[in-house]
Amino acid sequence: MPMPMNSLISQYMIIVIISGVLSVLLAIYAFYNRTNFSGMNAFMWSTSLSAVYTFAFAFELASDTLQEIRFWINVEYIGMPFIAPLSLLLVMHYVGLEKFTAPKKAWGLFVIPCLTLFMVLTNDYHHLFYKSIYLRPDAPTPMTDVVPGFWYYVHGSFTSGSMFASLFLLLRYWRKTKSIYRKQMATMAFGISLPMLGGLSYVLGLTPLDIDPVPMLMCITSALYIFSIFSTGMLTVSPIAREHIFESMRDGVLVLNLSNQIMDFNSAAAQIIPALTPLAIGKKLEDIWKRGAESGAFSFNANPDSEFQYEQEFKWIRGKETFYYRIRASNLLKPNGQLAGRTIVMIDVTEHTLLKNKLRHLAEIDGLTTIYNRTTFMDKSRDLLAKANQLQQPLSFILFDIDHFKQINDRYGHSVGDFALLHIVNICKQQLDPKALFGRYGGEEFAVCLPDTGLQQAGQVAEQIRREIASTPMYSSAKAISLSASFGVTDAKTAEVPLEVLLREADVALYRSKHSGRNMVHLHESAHVHANEIK
Ligand code: GH3
Ligand code: MG
Ligand code: MG
Repeated sequence: MPMPMNSLISQYMIIVIISGVLSVLLAIYAFYNRTNFSGMNAFMWSTSLSAVYTFAFAFELASDTLQEIRFWINVEYIGMPFIAPLSLLLVMHYVGLEKFTAPKKAWGLFVIPCLTLFMVLTNDYHHLFYKSIYLRPDAPTPMTDVVPGFWYYVHGSFTSGSMFASLFLLLRYWRKTKSIYRKQMATMAFGISLPMLGGLSYVLGLTPLDIDPVPMLMCITSALYIFSIFSTGMLTVSPIAREHIFESMRDGVLVLNLSNQIMDFNSAAAQIIPALTPLAIGKKLEDIWKRGAESGAFSFNANPDSEFQYEQEFKWIRGKETFYYRIRASNLLKPNGQLAGRTIVMIDVTEHTLLKNKLRHLAEIDGLTTIYNRTTFMDKSRDLLAKANQLQQPLSFILFDIDHFKQINDRYGHSVGDFALLHIVNICKQQLDPKALFGRYGGEEFAVCLPDTGLQQAGQVAEQIRREIASTPMYSSAKAISLSASFGVTDAKTAEVPLEVLLREADVALYRSKHSGRNMVHLHESAHVHANEIK
């Protein structure tokens, strides 16, 4: 009964052609989405080669002579041997085994398929693939039977080995994978095992009509993949790779639900907050947070409807070390725009902050004496002046200049001069209240701002310092060098007197001390109150 047989074959051919078309569609999809997921290239190649295989198979079915059949078999083998290792490569990408999928390492997977192709093309010369191939005598349409050669088994073992390896990887990573990806993994596992089982039953002679069912089963696999791509977004991103990125991030990341319970965190976050153990999942953020943060509470009472971002810098003390983190909370929205929870990203800015602090320090401090420089003194004095006005408190300024300092430089050298400046700064620091602001105003001129201190009291402070300087010689090469300084004192009598005016007043008083014989204290707009006691 040749007719029904023939129509069966032509029906089968239609399925095979559909399978080829589906493969082409998948290959086109993979081509346009090849940047979405690192395994997409492997997928593109495996679907393209599947298309080559299935179309060639269709032509084989339609062939009339052994010669034609042989030709189309050769074409089939351009595609077929590569499909299984490419599927394995795809699965490796999918489960995050990226280090083995680099071209440098993955080429090994294609040695045997290349040899297989070579063996098939050159079979006439060695008969290592097919010992013999002949037309089936009893078949109603031209069909071939083969006597497998040595390489046929190598090819078969390699193909099924690759497929088993793919299945093994999918099973191994099954438990590690979040449930949303499991449907995709099941699809892949099914898609791989279906042609594999078909191929196996064909080899064992279990298929009806003894026709290779693999191209038809590949049609089911392709349809399944297409369905999975559009329903679950299969192959858009690989789950393990995604987890891997999350885990390998240098920044700590916490995921919270709407009631601020911890849903997920990465290992960088656990390093920052030691309380983040697996037991912390489900706990409130506040309970975990308290144990690490040193400064302030972290709150984000933001409007849940807004595209909210919140940033804050934190000082964190762990053991003896201090860390700084920039913490950014962002709303996590569902595709429909509803708030789903929040993410908190913790970026280590310790190095940056320490450097910033150091630079600020360098900009504020005088390098030689390590007290405030003129700019900082002025800035901070302005603040104190404003505060004094606000609180209606007195505020005084002392300006002093070392007497005959040039002579010290000339006689003993510049470095002794430097040392003299340090000597005087040390004396002042000992005499001054911690609340007092002390700065280097010029070369050997210093300024003091005394909060909550009236003119007379400031005069006494100046006198005390003057006396201390005059009575404390400094020692250089076992030689005592006597120093003295002249002082001018003023206070902020009325509000709104600018700082510059006050300092000029103090300077005028200082000038009077210099002109009255040095080593003296003068108050602004009054006769000198403290006579030179030493000279
Ligand atoms: P007087 O104030 O009593 O009138 O006399 P003086 O000798 O102190 O006079 P003047 O203010 O003109 O001289 C200040 C000198 O201080 C000039 C400068 O060489 C020296 N000087 C300024 N800054 C430094 C410094 O950082 N180190 C040293 N060694 N000397 C400095
Ligand atoms: Mg001087
Ligand atoms: Mg001077």
